[in-house]
Amino acid sequence: MKTVTANFCPFAVRSGGYLTWPGSNVEGGVTLDLSQLTTIDVDEKQGTVGLGPGSRWKAVYTALEQYNLTTVGGRVPNVGVGGFFLGGGISLLSFQHGFGCDNIVNYEIVLADGTIVNANGNSHPDLFWAMKLGSTNYGIVTRFDVRMYPLKDVWGGIRTYPATSNDTPRLLDSWISFARNKAAVREELQAIILGRWGKGGVDEIMTVWHASLDSVPGPPLIDVPAIYDSTRKTSLLNVIGDVILAEKRYRWYTLTVKLDASFLWDVFDHAKDIFSKLEDVSGMHWDLAYQPITRGFLTASSETGGNPFKSVLEESEDDLASKVSVIDSVYQSNVDMQLSYFME
Ligand SMILES: Cc1cc2nc3c(=O)[nH]c(=O)nc-3n(C[C@H](O)[C@H](O)[C@H](O)COP(=O)(O)OP(=O)(O)OC[C@H]3O[C@@H](n4cnc5c(N)ncnc54)[C@H](O)[C@@H]3O)c2cc1C
Repeated sequence: MKTVTANFCPFAVRSGGYLTWPGSNVEGGVTLDLSQLTTIDVDEKQGTVGLGPGSRWKAVYTALEQYNLTTVGGRVPNVGVGGFFLGGGISLLSFQHGFGCDNIVNYEIVLADGTIVNANGNSHPDLFWAMKLGSTNYGIVTRFDVRMYPLKDVWGGIRTYPATSNDTPRLLDSWISFARNKAAVREELQAIILGRWGKGGVDEIMTVWHASLDSVPGPPLIDVPAIYDSTRKTSLLNVIGDVILAEKRYRWYTLTVKLDASFLWDVFDHAKDIFSKLEDVSGMHWDLAYQPITRGFLTASSETGGNPFKSVLEESEDDLASKVSVIDSVYQSNVDMQLSYFME
């Protein structure tokens, strides 16, 4: 850090490399690659685990499973610990324990002048608070000490249905009602993915991703036969392994909106219009993933620790959904153009 700052050298920091923007790389500078910092240091006495930023969630859950423990981590096996925690972190355990960052009790950080500090409730408490959504802005984190929780089996998996103009709004209604009234009680995070897959494959589909810490099976959200159903009692590691993502280029934007079925349905309709111009682009698909950030979720966040952005989310005084648009393909400028147009 001393060399880089003394020479005014542009630099980027990379942990797992899963950011979909060039934020963990820099042109004309150096990338500080933390992928070798993969410590997973379980302290059963303190109830915490020390994690290197370069660890991936699959490795973390695998290590903790031996102790029947887990932590509030990512939902996809290869996402890095570093970027996940520094962006907040939505986890399958969020209805119970809030955002991933709420569960951090200590950050080991390298500051811009090269000094190494520990930021926690007693030492550098302002920095500790800011780091909860700090990304690379305040320093480089070389270790996160995070709370662990007991966990054995969970119930989860995905259920996929054909998307139709009758069933999709019904599914969204039912999902919203579940998110508002039952998710926090049952400690089940559900995400919904609406999308259209390329020519020749299944056309429009809707997928519900269920994951409950209570291992009792949950009923389907609608009475339509699923095309595919992988829900079962299993380990958290297996549930995150259900979402297999192709190693391709992803582009996405997120927006947080009020939880309103007709609005979410309109967005899907609008997306179909806009992205229909890209039907012939080979290797591309798009989808919209909706995930709930309800008051039940924010209560869990406050009870666990809290963070700087919670008050912003609470200002709406309503349940929210965060929406993500994902596209994968080889780079093509017309894909970027339609995606920007859609977001506007
Ligand atoms: C397929 C996929 C699934 C995802 N699923 C989830 C999910 O379930 N829940 C969720 O909340 N998010 C999820 N995300 C978003 C993911 O958490 C972010 O993209 C995150 O930034 C990735 O972390 P990383 O370490 O792999 O990324 P990187 O690209 O290495 O880093 C991301 C950003 O954080 C900065 N950074 C990384 N490490 C450090 C560090 N040690 N110190 C300072 N700055 C650092 C980087 O400079 C960069 O700006 C997902 C992303 C993808 C692509």
